[in-house]
Amino acid sequence: MSKKIPTRIYLAEDEMPKFWYNLRADMKEKPAPILHPGTLQPVTSADMEQIFCKEPVKQELDETTQLIPIPDGIRNFYLAYRPSPLIRAYYLEKDLETPAEIYYKFEGTNTSGSHKLNSAGAQAYYAKEEGLTSLTTETGAGQWGSAMAMACAFYNLKLTVYMVKISSEQKPYRKALMEAYGASVIPSPSNTTESGKKILENDPNTGGSLGCAISEAIETAVKSEKCRYVLGSVLNHVLLHQSIIGQETKTAMDMYGIKPDIIIGCAGGGSNLGGLIAPFMGEKLAGKSNARFIAVEPASCPSFTRGRYAYDFGDTAKTTPLIKMQTLGSGFIPSSNHAGGLRYHGMNSVLSKLYRDGFLEARSEIQTNVFDAAVRFMKVEGILPAPESSHAIKAAIDEAVECKKTGEKKIILFGLTGTGYFDMTAYMSYNAKTMSDSVPSDADLERGFASIPDIPQNK
Ligand SMILES: *Cc1c(COP(=O)(O)O)cnc(C)c1O
Repeated sequence: MSKKIPTRIYLAEDEMPKFWYNLRADMKEKPAPILHPGTLQPVTSADMEQIFCKEPVKQELDETTQLIPIPDGIRNFYLAYRPSPLIRAYYLEKDLETPAEIYYKFEGTNTSGSHKLNSAGAQAYYAKEEGLTSLTTETGAGQWGSAMAMACAFYNLKLTVYMVKISSEQKPYRKALMEAYGASVIPSPSNTTESGKKILENDPNTGGSLGCAISEAIETAVKSEKCRYVLGSVLNHVLLHQSIIGQETKTAMDMYGIKPDIIIGCAGGGSNLGGLIAPFMGEKLAGKSNARFIAVEPASCPSFTRGRYAYDFGDTAKTTPLIKMQTLGSGFIPSSNHAGGLRYHGMNSVLSKLYRDGFLEARSEIQTNVFDAAVRFMKVEGILPAPESSHAIKAAIDEAVECKKTGEKKIILFGLTGTGYFDMTAYMSYNAKTMSDSVPSDADLERGFASIPDIPQNK
């Protein structure tokens, strides 16, 4: 295989994958079923359709269909910004003086700035097909809200976004972007919902959390006509849509005979990581690959590395179905010092299961080290990375430095999930050296764990 590998590998439009890959179909041990919070029985599609759109619910509960065709209407949306480039990090390799080969799949080439548009487009398309007229959602750092605002503008749907209050204050430009695309943005907790009012009564100065914002968005969706709620991570149908990332990466790597030894992704709710690793993990589960998989999470919100594996709610008001996952408890609120995303208390159930079964490793990083890695990367590769993505950069650099010590010529792949143009407040505090690290104490974590439901399934 002597073909010179270009710095940027682009697939042609007709090479863009026509199928999403459902990793669960190839898992011998499936994740535990999602439970109805009232009956504690596995949820039915009818239960879930009260909150979510129909086709995503079908996908959520499908653990047997391996390849799910991407409808032409969604492929058409994808073509506005995909296929995305797979980049060989020649400059970073040189800077690190590593014998390793480093590749990254860059998902930041659209205006919303991240991979989230892959699922936003799919979910908006299905809502439109179903005859809905509006959607509600939450956003933390703002990328998911921006992606949904773009997708809803494209498919002509109304969108209400509950934005975590602290984040709407720190990131006014995110709010402006969503509004420019036509979305209504409400800082959460708000007094527009019962769950918001309740949270404000208990803690009027709270900066909010994703869990609170989700409660508000669901409440509003359930109360409104022809309206459903959409979620940008954690759930299996979101990982399914994000498998376009892994499918494209594998197609591009196969063209050049590249087989990654280490695959790294940052982990918030798990969607980009799950999407990137899907086809590679499929090979590993089939015994055809020895690749290692590494999830990287912030030390301030460590659901893999310090969380419990238990059935938990997705939101603070405890209204969602129960998912068995790595969780810090739906009552856990990460420190407001934590700058960039990845603030969700739980983790996708497939990834949680793979972690428990030893197929997926996880590590946590403090944010000052993450920003050190971001800056080192941007100086040589040119791209301003999102703080979330920079968790993966940090681990990729560490693995490449390890190769330098051992002389091993490993092939490292990581997901560069997005750009950091809207995160300059965080970069400012990094530059000014006022950025601090906050790692929850065991007592902080215990308070979160106390919110995990006390049900027989968790005994
Ligand atoms: C939302 C986001 C993440 C984390 O979400 P996952 O669902 O874990 O992928 C990572 N990077 C960027 C740029 C994001 O916007």
